[in-house]
Amino acid sequence: MKKKLINIAIDGHSSCGKSSIAKCISKEFNMTYIDSGAMYRAITLYCIENEIIFENAIDYTLLLQSLKKIDISFNYNIALSITETFLNGKNVEHLIRDSRVSDQVSSISKIREVRDKLIDFQQKICSKKNVVMDGRDIGTKVMPDADVKFFITADVSVRAQRRFDELKTNNKDLTYAKVLANLNKRDSDDVGRKINPLLKAVDAIVIDNTFLSFVNQNELVFNLIKNHN
Ligand code: C5P
Repeated sequence: MKKKLINIAIDGHSSCGKSSIAKCISKEFNMTYIDSGAMYRAITLYCIENEIIFENAIDYTLLLQSLKKIDISFNYNIALSITETFLNGKNVEHLIRDSRVSDQVSSISKIREVRDKLIDFQQKICSKKNVVMDGRDIGTKVMPDADVKFFITADVSVRAQRRFDELKTNNKDLTYAKVLANLNKRDSDDVGRKINPLLKAVDAIVIDNTFLSFVNQNELVFNLIKNHN
C-alpha cells in the first residue's frame, strides 16, 4: 500500500533549534526540508547588496520594484549533505547567516509584499506534500492544514548561549551579549509585527527544549509523528 504523504509545520522563537529538528525529521521520514527563514534572509541580503537597506533605512519603492527580480532556490549538496540557498543563481548559504543579515532580517520580514511573495512560493512547494518546513507562520498561515504542527521554544539565555557557542569560532568579534540582544530584538519583532506574527497555532504541540537534550527531543518528536492520526 502507498504511504500517506504528510506535511509538518515547525514554528517557534529564533535559535531554538527548529532547523536542526526539521533536518532530523526530513532524514528519518524521508521528507523534503524547507527553511523558510533562509528565504527572508536571502531577500535581506539582496537588499543589503543593492543598497535597498542603507544605514537602517529602507527604500520601499526600490524594494517593491526589485521583488520580481529576486529568485530564490534550494539545491541539495550531496558532498556536504546539506541543502543550500541560492539567490539569483548564486550560492548564498554562508552569506545569509552573517550577522549583517540577522540584524536586518526582521525589518524586511515585516513588509507585506515580501511576505506575500514568499508565502505564495512556500505554499506552491507544500502543495506537493511530504514537506517539513520551519519558520514563524508555517502552522498558522503557510500550511494551516499541516498534518502535524510543532511550536518550539526555550529560555532566551539558553538559546543565546547555544547560538554563541555555534558562531564564536568563525566570528571573533561576537559576544554573548550581542547574540542575546539580537535574539531579544528578533523575538519581539516577530511576535509584535502586524502581519503574520509569530504565533502558536491552536493545534500545535509545544516543545520547550530548555532542559531537553537533542537526542531526547528527537525521540519525542519522532514518536509524536509516528503516532499522529
Ligand atoms: O529562521 P531564521 O531565524 O533563519 O529566520 C530569520 C528571520 O526571518 C526571523 O527572525 C523572522 O523575522 C523571519 N521569518 C519570518 N517568517 C518565517 C521565517 C522567518 O518572518 N516563516
